[in-house]
Amino acid sequence: MLSRILLLGLAACIVSAAWARPVPPVVRSPKIDFSKVEIRTTRVSDNFFVLEGQGGAISLLTGSDGVLMIDSEFAPLTDKIIAAIQHIADQPVRYLVNTHVHADHTGGNENLAKRGVLIFSREQVRSRLAEPSPDAYGRTRSPAGEIIALCGPNTKVVPGHGPIVDRSAVVAQRDLILATRDRMMPLIAKGMTFDQVLQANLTADSGVPVPAGAETAEQFIWWLYVELTESPTGLQLNR
Ligand SMILES: [Zn+2]
Repeated sequence: MLSRILLLGLAACIVSAAWARPVPPVVRSPKIDFSKVEIRTTRVSDNFFVLEGQGGAISLLTGSDGVLMIDSEFAPLTDKIIAAIQHIADQPVRYLVNTHVHADHTGGNENLAKRGVLIFSREQVRSRLAEPSPDAYGRTRSPAGEIIALCGPNTKVVPGHGPIVDRSAVVAQRDLILATRDRMMPLIAKGMTFDQVLQANLTADSGVPVPAGAETAEQFIWWLYVELTESPTGLQLNR
């Protein structure tokens, strides 16, 4: 079953090995009243579920040997998340996988570790969480190509944010990234600043929808601008 369901930590939330660059111009940090957050559960298949509260989505694979959890949202939500899991599983959470370092995906780590949950991540995420550093630096890339290659016609893809999608949505997102990249590179070659590139409204008639929700069009342009200015040869992105 797991092979049919891909866990995508970031269709909308781009994976970052270590993100410590200038702060994007539009960083929304609304004050969250966690007491008002409710956890919604979606059953994707017999033993695969998605929980949504505030922040990144949580995926759950349940089995007779325990629950495997992907991402942990914010720390103040752990009790509500555990309660939601107890509704759908009679076994405890045994394993947690962190997709990336952001607090809306890893905030519950400490609470879950205290409950005996074993946490896994890539080495870069682990070291970044263990020793947060303003100088940390790492590549950012989209795994869209790999995800598309793994998708079959009936595969469901769980993004870090936003609705559960299928292969065609990941293809559309990859195409948007590539099309916008191709438009942006000449502007960067002219020495344009981020604000100037933003003014150019590169996604206006791209033919595919700009990511919605947590990832605004402006943040998307910012991510691409930073990526391209640091890597003039372009994104590492498989067609
Ligand atoms: Zn996120």
